[in-house]
Amino acid sequence: MELYSGHINKLIEQFAKLPGVGSKSAQRLALHVINMPPEHVERFAQIMVEARRNIHYCNVCYTLSDREICPICANPGRNHGVIMVVENIRDLAAYEKTGKFEGVYHVLHGAISPMLGIGPNDIRLKELIKRLEGDVEEVIIATNSSLEGETTAMYISKLIKPTGVRVTRIASGVPVGGDLECIDEMTLLRALEGRIEL
Ligand code: ZN
Repeated sequence: MELYSGHINKLIEQFAKLPGVGSKSAQRLALHVINMPPEHVERFAQIMVEARRNIHYCNVCYTLSDREICPICANPGRNHGVIMVVENIRDLAAYEKTGKFEGVYHVLHGAISPMLGIGPNDIRLKELIKRLEGDVEEVIIATNSSLEGETTAMYISKLIKPTGVRVTRIASGVPVGGDLECIDEMTLLRALEGRIEL
């Protein structure tokens, strides 16, 4: 005999597909939704659909934005000649939270990983190189210090060096294998200030 009705099972299955949600949590979330007032469930579903439909990648840095150009790229007060390259939007958010970085970003949406079959063409690297046609004085590589992050940093530096643009790497104050988003602001700032030439 099925423990739950088909509808509940379907809901549990959907929750279980989310990152970090195991089967127990999926059950708990599904049962919670069933007990929510119908109008709250509708509002929740509608917000998800609208977010998915209306949020795009910024045409310049590829972070998520409601507009074609994100507020950071559209801000004339930022230094558009200094681009910090990060693996994902969470890393961008971590640096942005320090409030001390005045340049702009470039979100790669991943890192090169031969093991996982992720090559240079699978991340937003071409888009970064294209940006260098503009007036760029420095590219700060702030990928994670994991194997993938280091591989990506090396690859980018080799690609950029011949263009004459200054390439730096954030200092290794960031622990090896450490996710940028889990590291406190002081460590991030120290890593940024102690960046080294590549
Ligand atoms: Zn942007």
